[in-house]
Amino acid sequence: MAERMLQFTHLSQHQPDKRTVAERRADFDEIYRSFDPSRASEQASRCSQCGVPFCSVHCPLSNNIPDWLKLSAEGRLEEAYEVSSATNNFPEICGRICPQDRLCEGNCVIERGFESVTIGAVERFITDNAFVEGWVRPVQVTHEREQSVGIIGAGPGGLAAAEQLRKLGYQVHVYDRYDRVGGLMIYGIPGFKLEKTIVQRRHALLEQGGIQFHLGRSVADLDSDETVAFATLRERHDALLIATGVYKSRDIGGPGAGLAGIVKAIDYLTASNRSSLGDRVPEIESGLLDASGKNVVVIGGGDTAMDCVRTAVRQGAASVKCLYRRDRANMPGSLREVANAEDEGVEFVWLAAPEAFVGDNGVSAVRAVRMKLGLPDTSGRQSVDPVAGSGFVLPADLVIKALGFDPEELPTLWGEDGLEVSRWGTLRVGRTSFMTSLPGVFAAGDIVRGASLVVWAIRDGRDAAASIDRWLREEAGEHRQPMMAAE
Ligand code: FAD
Ligand code: SF4
Ligand code: SF4
Repeated sequence: MAERMLQFTHLSQHQPDKRTVAERRADFDEIYRSFDPSRASEQASRCSQCGVPFCSVHCPLSNNIPDWLKLSAEGRLEEAYEVSSATNNFPEICGRICPQDRLCEGNCVIERGFESVTIGAVERFITDNAFVEGWVRPVQVTHEREQSVGIIGAGPGGLAAAEQLRKLGYQVHVYDRYDRVGGLMIYGIPGFKLEKTIVQRRHALLEQGGIQFHLGRSVADLDSDETVAFATLRERHDALLIATGVYKSRDIGGPGAGLAGIVKAIDYLTASNRSSLGDRVPEIESGLLDASGKNVVVIGGGDTAMDCVRTAVRQGAASVKCLYRRDRANMPGSLREVANAEDEGVEFVWLAAPEAFVGDNGVSAVRAVRMKLGLPDTSGRQSVDPVAGSGFVLPADLVIKALGFDPEELPTLWGEDGLEVSRWGTLRVGRTSFMTSLPGVFAAGDIVRGASLVVWAIRDGRDAAASIDRWLREEAGEHRQPMMAAE
């Protein structure tokens, strides 16, 4: 083993520096600064090069983490990039936004007290540096195949599949209803976690590699000026991949729930992201989706709620409160993001839930009640019950509902009765084939898993691409392999 490794006993963990709170509150730029080469090398050298690396086991992409850490520690950065990009289409994105505390870093075996290796930050550094050095190149196709694949959805799942299929020589066409590429990476996740230029840089590279994008084209039941029918795409392409994500916001009822000023998280974040990208957004100009000067209450405890509270801070809200019915220890959102939000001035109201919304023309307050945790249910999760007589009122001119997402009402998707759905409303696919109940139609990402993570969408997109390749080769009579449709 290289002497450079195993340095965790005397080198302490350093996450990348954060910008000051005052700077962060004033713009939508990323809050973490990059490692410089010496800090990246130093932090990578803390790895003990485990024989069975639990970090890799718990990375959805099974990234070869110990190898690229060792290469980084030795300053062999081009090789580190080659190894890192062999299993991940967008390592610099995962390095920024994976919940590492629950995945790779949370399973690093370095003993408690020494703290885990800063895997995500090194991964981000390797590819950011590779872009600077000119080592990241578009796909080069030497022999283009005659078959074409249509991909519906330009989120991480669709993009990872597109790149993998292009590498194999297929003609790849990506259709998206949005005018920009990236899915939730561009219009959901705010710039303070993932700057828009990082996603746009990938879009440019994919286009240079010959992937053709058809933006502003919603796939629908019928062809029209703005839509393209699913049936048309089936005729046009030899195989299709559906990677359309999940966008139906979970709702909240109760008295006053229909008042103006109570908005969905996805609408609020999309408007803010569009504004950051320089678009004119009428709902921000009219104040409907702008927190400036307002008392804001965000309902929910997941990462989307964290993105909303921190966006409201940056829009200049008078106050920002996050109402969550469980406590800090039981919230689904990343604790790192909660700490960042608290630093930026967000107040968390734990163990509290809304009962009613008050207001005349628009919402002016949330009537809430205290909650208490009860006994665990069969899944191990503690129940939550209201505390009688504990009602209280929070002033609110803007209420943002961030309670999670579900798939749309399927199975009426694009008038295709044959497209089977699971009992959760997600698309049903073969476990390893990713093929739906329609031959030659595959699906991947959130539309199959339900609301998940970028890294899982990438993983699914890669696996689906491999399966599409096998199926198309079989169709072309190149070799025969059994392929299971949705079982
Ligand atoms: P999406 O990213 O949703 O992309 C689907 C694409 O399909 C979209 O571009 C959409 O316009 C397009 N589409 C949909 N219907 C049609 C149609 N009919 N015709 C044409 N195009 C269509 N994950 C993390 O790992 N880290 C995070 O920090 C994180 N933060 C998040 C914050 C927010 C606010 C949200 C909402 C999600 C976050 N996630 C995060 C989750 C992550 O963004 C998703 O799991 C991931 O983007 C799913 O990828 P996907 O490719 O399946 O779908
Ligand atoms: Fe960790 Fe995500 Fe990178 Fe895997 S892809 S090593 S989980 S940051
Ligand atoms: Fe290195 Fe930690 Fe992974 Fe072990 S678990 S190989 S110490 S990063």
